[in-house]
Amino acid sequence: MDRKITIGHLYPDLLNLYGDRGNIACLTQRCRWRGIEAETIEFELKDQIDFRELDIVLLGGGSDREQMIVCGKLKEIRQDFKNYVEDDGVVIAVCGGYQLLGEYYQTEEGRLEGLNLVDLYTEQEEGRIIGNIVLESDLVSMPVVGFENHGGRTCIRGNKPFGRVLYGSGNDGRSGYEGVVYKNVIGTYLHGPLLPKNPQISDWLIARALERRYGDSALEPLDDSQEEAANSYIFHRFVKQ
Ligand code: GLN
Repeated sequence: MDRKITIGHLYPDLLNLYGDRGNIACLTQRCRWRGIEAETIEFELKDQIDFRELDIVLLGGGSDREQMIVCGKLKEIRQDFKNYVEDDGVVIAVCGGYQLLGEYYQTEEGRLEGLNLVDLYTEQEEGRIIGNIVLESDLVSMPVVGFENHGGRTCIRGNKPFGRVLYGSGNDGRSGYEGVVYKNVIGTYLHGPLLPKNPQISDWLIARALERRYGDSALEPLDDSQEEAANSYIFHRFVKQ
């Protein structure tokens, strides 16, 4: 059977820090290399979102100001988004988008109500956490490498983290954990080219989406030798000499 996935990009005009959109280019290309069709729908604040037609949702990062603008809209889509998540819909939420998955994001200027899709909350503290980061994650065998830049510190309560921090700060710089995994949702502070740098995470998302729509998550292996070499270089640079 021909397989096709539809990716929904929420509010790229506001939430697209460091080119989070590149993650969609990566998902799309990794599908096409395998003969799987991949389409992206970009939503603006004024658009209606029919979550039933979506297989993967990307919620990118944004400044506090941009998050504030999006925040008002979230109340309207919350119930549909929650149904999607509870029905095993796949979500990749990065940085500001990750914070918005939770109950709230408390900043100096006030409190932003989140989507309340995952039981977590974020509070701004003094100083930003900025730098390279390396994790080990149960979801994949390769280390997860990336870059983080956030003022908020996230508490994931009893949820499962996305990874254990081997280098860098992660959710709050104290717990030793980074991000969250809830059902088929990944929330993470790893910005920009998260998926090109971590092809196994990309394939985890695609496989979950295919499993949900077609009951068939089989993925042909790709030649990832360049990605693996880049990943290994970063791992050895920051973690293991
Ligand atoms: N504005 C949020 C923070 O500073 C998220 C930033 C981001 O998406 N990079 O914590």
